[in-house]
Amino acid sequence: MSSTAAPVLRMYIGGEWVESESGRTFEAYSPANGQLIASLPEGSREDARRAIRAANDHKHKISGMSVWDRADLCRRIGDVVARHKEELARALSEDQGKPYHTQALREAEAAANSFYNAAEQVKWLETSVIPAKDPNKRVFSFRQPRGVYAVVTPWNFPMGIPSHYLAPALAAGNAVVWVPAPTTSVCAVNLMQCLEEAGVPSGAVNLVTGPGPIVGDEIVAHPATDAVGFTGSSQTGRRIAERAAGKSLLLELGGNGPTIILEDADLAMAGVVTAAGCFHNAGQVCSATERILVQRGAHAEIVERLIEAAGSIRLGDPFDPATTMGPLNNQPTAEKIDRHLADGVSKGAVILFGGQRMPDLGSDLFYAPTVIDNISRDSLLNNEETFGPVAPVMAFDDYDEALAIANQDNMGLVAAVFTSNIKNAFYFAERLRTGVVNVNEHSNYWESHIPFGGVAGTRSGIGRIGGKHTLMEMTDLRTMCIDVSR
Ligand code: NAD
Repeated sequence: MSSTAAPVLRMYIGGEWVESESGRTFEAYSPANGQLIASLPEGSREDARRAIRAANDHKHKISGMSVWDRADLCRRIGDVVARHKEELARALSEDQGKPYHTQALREAEAAANSFYNAAEQVKWLETSVIPAKDPNKRVFSFRQPRGVYAVVTPWNFPMGIPSHYLAPALAAGNAVVWVPAPTTSVCAVNLMQCLEEAGVPSGAVNLVTGPGPIVGDEIVAHPATDAVGFTGSSQTGRRIAERAAGKSLLLELGGNGPTIILEDADLAMAGVVTAAGCFHNAGQVCSATERILVQRGAHAEIVERLIEAAGSIRLGDPFDPATTMGPLNNQPTAEKIDRHLADGVSKGAVILFGGQRMPDLGSDLFYAPTVIDNISRDSLLNNEETFGPVAPVMAFDDYDEALAIANQDNMGLVAAVFTSNIKNAFYFAERLRTGVVNVNEHSNYWESHIPFGGVAGTRSGIGRIGGKHTLMEMTDLRTMCIDVSR
């Protein structure tokens, strides 16, 4: 494909599709075959400021709507997204790389559901009347929009994750300036087109494409944005927390989720289910199973099941109906996996399946599903987020040892435990330092109304997304006191 054949996409500011003020562009390539798929505006700080001005000039259009009208708007957006789900899924497969039939269609449906969910939840967000000591006072609270939200999103679920912010932001009456990840900005433009088609008020949502450290930094740090919603790495989250100090922060960051498998579990089930936690979306999931701690007596069977599951994965063209895993989205992710596996092997781990890229499939972003055993406590696989299709295994002898490993330098997001004993389930659920613990289910299980986020004091973020929890995060609680005697 030549560069002139690819569509030229634009950003969306103040209700118009615009180029960057500099006229500069960047190109989007398919991770599956390296073909050019579109060019996009390379936004500058001035473009970000233009979007912030538009959001401030037009925020009254969304804050001034009744809750019922905002719920209608969200429902209309959900309908448009659902109607265009095949096109959206095609963009996801081309731009992100995920399999069209088995994963991209589901992500497009999930994006529609986020809007339906916000439309339902916002109507029932009741607040309280607070009894006062003073008999002449009537005290109550109500929820108000925060103003202009700076939303910055990653590339692993480029329609699902933005919808977790855009839907509740609009339902709650906020205007938004949104910066998507550069490697999935074609997806962002497609989703933005749905919002426009559904009649989102002009200026209420503004999309700025370009480098995160420039346009993302500008929108989080600028004094005319009031709050930040960010999903991405722990490192970027920390920088954003500094740059946006004093603003309301909802930060969904990284994870290196431990899964603990006890000898008393249904081991055949535990092996198969855990593999899904490792390999879904080629492991590019914040809640992915990043390390598997297996009680020694169960070790041999679990390893065998993981190898079987890895062998049954069909890695290949995202548009082939038989494909169950596509390429990784980008080169830095592939390099990090190379680095983590090499580090593991240098510290005594053994690769039992996969462990290399498969460039013959169309690009060197295809990574074989990998099972690596005997990882050490000081390895990168145990201490950092790998974010790839890797199942790292480690054996343990007693429960306290398992807990110590699981909680060691923990990123605190999601853990899983497999056991047939309810006492053991609670033993671990109450001691693991993560925001979510799934029992007899892989670490990726989540539904979009369930509270999700990291535990305090770790590198996994601040706040909770999910249904009414995001709505509460994205509103200010206003307290009103009335004296009825004067
Ligand atoms: P990243 O932090 O590199 O980038 C995330 C976004 O931030 C991108 O849009 C990027 O352009 C932007 N950005 C980069 N530097 C910035 C800066 N200085 N200021 C403002 N914005 C900036 O993360 P990624 O590689 O795109 O995404 C993968 C990470 O996201 C993983 O760590 C994963 O665990 C995490 N994640 C978390 C969740 C969750 O809900 N907790 C969900 C999905 C992904």
